[in-house]
Amino acid sequence: MNNKRDYYEVLGVNKNATDEEIKRAFRVLAKKYHPDVNKEEGAAEKFKEIGEAYSVLSDPQKRSQYDQFGHAAFDGQAGAGFDMGDINLDDILSNLFGGGFGGFGSFTSGFGRTSSRNQARRGDDLLMHIRLTFEEAIHGCKKDIKVQVNEECDECHGKGGFNETTCTNCNGQGFVKEEARTLFGMMQTQKTCPICHGTGKMFKEMCSKCRGEGRVAKNKTLTVTIPEGINTGHQLRLSGKGGAGVNGGPNGDIYLEFTVEDHKFFERHENDIYLEVPVTITEAILGCKKEIPTLTGPGYIEIKPGTQNYTKLKLKGKGIKDVNSKTYGDMYVVVNVIIPTKLNRKQKELLTELSETDLESESEFKEFKKALK
Ligand SMILES: [Zn+2]
Ligand SMILES: [Zn+2]
Repeated sequence: MNNKRDYYEVLGVNKNATDEEIKRAFRVLAKKYHPDVNKEEGAAEKFKEIGEAYSVLSDPQKRSQYDQFGHAAFDGQAGAGFDMGDINLDDILSNLFGGGFGGFGSFTSGFGRTSSRNQARRGDDLLMHIRLTFEEAIHGCKKDIKVQVNEECDECHGKGGFNETTCTNCNGQGFVKEEARTLFGMMQTQKTCPICHGTGKMFKEMCSKCRGEGRVAKNKTLTVTIPEGINTGHQLRLSGKGGAGVNGGPNGDIYLEFTVEDHKFFERHENDIYLEVPVTITEAILGCKKEIPTLTGPGYIEIKPGTQNYTKLKLKGKGIKDVNSKTYGDMYVVVNVIIPTKLNRKQKELLTELSETDLESESEFKEFKKALK
């Protein structure tokens, strides 16, 4: 279960908020709850929550994932799109406030880790929902899955440009000095160089294919082998198939989460299968051999003479193969005695004749008669 608050609610904006509105809301809240400013209890948690919400809603890809799947998109094993460690508040705030924020030290005191833009970063994780038919799930199958992932740009090999040279904006310093309005009035601050983003380097020629991003979105079709025994809610991790890592970081993963459709006759309980079989009154009374469908094709079941309605017959090991342990569940056949409603004259005569014999020799009838006294 996830008890997290809705990110839009956290920032107090509506679902259609523009990037500008989101940024504005974050700026106001971040100022209000920053632990260097706000010493109230719970302010730090609040600040963290705001940072987390902003890191998702300010990133178009993460925002669209969140819109589709909610918090599940980034849940522990599900998406792992980020954790607090990945939120670079320093980055967020330096973008918003313009650099080091002079006066009161680092904005990230006590939060996450500070990282430079050149740090290796893991690629994006993707969560995809896959629908399987009952048969596909229990027998396993191969599925072609269309995904869009960020891959390293093959034009610039992920660099974002060509002919690297010293940044002319900051002379290779990585920062520029600037007058900035802060909470304490005008201050001389150092701002991360907007051209080289602090690296001190720039390209003479930007890569036109990835527009300097170093990564491009690619549509891919993955053929995935789905094992036998998948059930609704099961997840499959395709390790390293997600977005390309940045600056030599590892690739992200793709998670497939399954929903299995119901079967017309078989009912699934974990790895056991239930099947209701209609039998006639004479079959139940006299016994019979009955043809039934099983997961592996047609089969037979023995109905013993005097079988009661709703008798459950177990076929050991005829259920579903467990996706992990590879052991089989059982099949249960539930007898459903159908009382005929349309009788011809001959049948009516035979039944009337039968009704004149003693059919009340079972103990149940004797017990019930006691209740009438
Ligand atoms: Zn620069
Ligand atoms: Zn490129």
